[in-house]
Amino acid sequence: MRILWTGVAALALTMPAAAQSLGDQVQQQMPSLMTIYKDLHANPELSFMEVRSAGILAAEARKLGFDVTEKVGGTGVVAVMKNGPGPVVLVRADMDGLPVTEQTGLPGASKVRVTTKEGVETGVMHACGHDTHMTSWIGTARLMAANKDKWSGTLVMIGQPAEERGAGARMMLEDGLYTRFPKPQYALAFHDAAQFPAGAIGYTPGYALANVDSVDILVKGVGGHGAYPQATKDPIVLASRIVTALQTLVSREISPLVSAVVTVGSFHAGAKHNIIPDEARLQLTVRSYTDEVRNHLLDGIARVAKGEAIAAGLPDDKLPVVSVEKDEFTPSTFNTPDLTEDMAAFLTTRFGDKRVIKMPPVMGGEDFGRFSRDDKDIKSLIIWVGGVPQAELDAAKKEGRTLPSLHSPFWAPDAPAVISTATEALTSMAMKLMPKG
Ligand SMILES: [Zn+2]
Ligand SMILES: [Zn+2]
Repeated sequence: MRILWTGVAALALTMPAAAQSLGDQVQQQMPSLMTIYKDLHANPELSFMEVRSAGILAAEARKLGFDVTEKVGGTGVVAVMKNGPGPVVLVRADMDGLPVTEQTGLPGASKVRVTTKEGVETGVMHACGHDTHMTSWIGTARLMAANKDKWSGTLVMIGQPAEERGAGARMMLEDGLYTRFPKPQYALAFHDAAQFPAGAIGYTPGYALANVDSVDILVKGVGGHGAYPQATKDPIVLASRIVTALQTLVSREISPLVSAVVTVGSFHAGAKHNIIPDEARLQLTVRSYTDEVRNHLLDGIARVAKGEAIAAGLPDDKLPVVSVEKDEFTPSTFNTPDLTEDMAAFLTTRFGDKRVIKMPPVMGGEDFGRFSRDDKDIKSLIIWVGGVPQAELDAAKKEGRTLPSLHSPFWAPDAPAVISTATEALTSMAMKLMPKG
């Protein structure tokens, strides 16, 4: 079921906030928020290009009385509201869309096409739901401003660029997020969730999302005629051995009770049946939770590549070149356990135990972890907010159908459910962390 919110935008912001419960205030905002959501959804922007989206967040926050700074770490937005003594709470939304051509067929679907800086023409879509994140950020900003008499502290709301490239959080921090602006004691965010009931809240104490590394391996060889392999060093055979040996890093070197992934997602070599090429190229995604496992995997990949090349008889100057994409490393996301349990208990009293569900960690990545990674004084929590109507989940299960995941061109979250739940959850948590007197 989809709820339609058309034509009622003008009714927003008409009742005094104090007289209403937070849930009622959220519902009051929904028509206006859905108008914003539809606009953001129809106008997605790729990583590093979130200029229009950032402008919308900045303008909204400015109207509400936040002290707003733009272009922090590229297109990032920082909106600060100082409201008396108390802790500093950071609330983050990411802003970028993906190079995916939307195929939901829904009215309001994105028709945006761009040519990337690599020269590839592509559709652009909020296939990860960052449009719901931005809209809920605006909803939270509005409710925090409307309820200033009920909390005391400093609220730092940030619109972050380039999450999908694992770069935006780092860029904002490097541009002085914690030196030019108040440094938080708490950092909060949410992500919409596919395969999870609309309006349900998922939480994971401890590690929630993985370290993500991208690794390239250039496997060198000696090319020649396919009929005379004895005169060559075949990089395809060598790269194949490397791919197979890499599987043992997880299966033989890491404890079965510890999570790790080594996936070779790309293998390119050669151009013709009867030519042995002189190189092969592999691209890997490498995932873990702890620094220790991450280092073991990255060291292991270099060791396996080199060892297999030596076994194949390659000379020193033709050993594989293994490079780790430092700029696109996404560190694992760790939800501070005591904060997570406290907030889960608090959210359960507000939303009920059927809507607040403990979730296992996943091997996906999120650069939100960066905001607390290097500072143990910052407690941090990202929650999931489900986006699939229960009826659709039930039908898919019955029919044995797989539902679209995040990043799918078919991902169509139940936006009103996600936005209203996330807005209420973020606002109530922020207010809980900044109690009055
Ligand atoms: Zn994503
Ligand atoms: Zn995302």
